[in-house]
Amino acid sequence: MRSATSSMSISPSDLPLIQGTWFDGRSARACAAALRPQSADLCWLEAEAQQCEVFLTEVSVSARIGQIPRRLTFADGSYFETADNDGIDVLMAARGSSRGWVPWLERQWKVALLALLGVAGICILLVTVVLPRLATRIADAVPTSVDAQIGAGVLRTLDGRLLLPSTLSPQRQKQLQTHFAAVTADSSRGTAWQLQLRDAASIGPNAFAFPGGTVVMTDQLVNLAQNDEELLSVLAHEAGHVYRRHGLRQLVQGLGISALAMIVLGDVSAITSLAGAAPALLQASYSRDMEREADAYSRDWLNRHGIPPQRFDDLLCRLAASDTHSNAKNTADYFASHPAVSDRAHCP
Ligand SMILES: [Zn+2]
Repeated sequence: MRSATSSMSISPSDLPLIQGTWFDGRSARACAAALRPQSADLCWLEAEAQQCEVFLTEVSVSARIGQIPRRLTFADGSYFETADNDGIDVLMAARGSSRGWVPWLERQWKVALLALLGVAGICILLVTVVLPRLATRIADAVPTSVDAQIGAGVLRTLDGRLLLPSTLSPQRQKQLQTHFAAVTADSSRGTAWQLQLRDAASIGPNAFAFPGGTVVMTDQLVNLAQNDEELLSVLAHEAGHVYRRHGLRQLVQGLGISALAMIVLGDVSAITSLAGAAPALLQASYSRDMEREADAYSRDWLNRHGIPPQRFDDLLCRLAASDTHSNAKNTADYFASHPAVSDRAHCP
């Protein structure tokens, strides 16, 4: 950025004679004219063999836009137009102003900081309010058959790797299927509900809902429960995830956040790691909100079916305790994506 020259050190001979056209501002009359700088603040306007003083402090100068002629408008409404944009720039620089508002903004760090805060504010609003609502709307517009296809794909990927066929007895499996049918009976809405029981020693006690109505519960969780009401509370929690289409919403939000991170953070290599971390951090916060929604769904279902909601707390607390007292790393992973149990349940 060029530095402004102080008016004290300007000599008229440094400043260019600027040729142009003068208009009286009242009629279409135009005449050839010239601006002859006398100092950084004073020019002579020469037109029709006459000369008058022009104080640049009283003149408004149009901004430079490409090669469009500049206009200097005087206090009496008359104006001077010139194609000599460079000449005007030299004159303005001598006065301490330069090419319009962009360099001015560059000097205003407070304005720059405010703009930065503005952009940050808009991003926060987009991410916390607009994107979740948009994701819900998009999820609502997607046919449920798409959810089912995604869910089936995820299950196929996990089966045989992390998930093995359940080792529970057929009678026990049948009991659990009956529980699941009871939990999903009043929220069918054309959902293809399925309970998949799996042995998952490497995952540990866990349950998860896939888009489309598939809920997976591990044998390890079934064995951790002290009664079936606790398992009903977990199944209701997972049904809550499916009912509110959390899986699809998370997919859409994930795509939205990635796109936003690319737009805002661009390809600035220094903050690439931030661009990578931001979507994961935001997803974790979305997932906390979704856990709370599913918790509320479960407690409401338990209440409506005469089961104390404390059953859900009991199982959550036992899960948390088994996590602290064992070295099972995988249970820790499960809780990493969930809100703290102390926020969700009343543990003794
Ligand atoms: Zn959950």
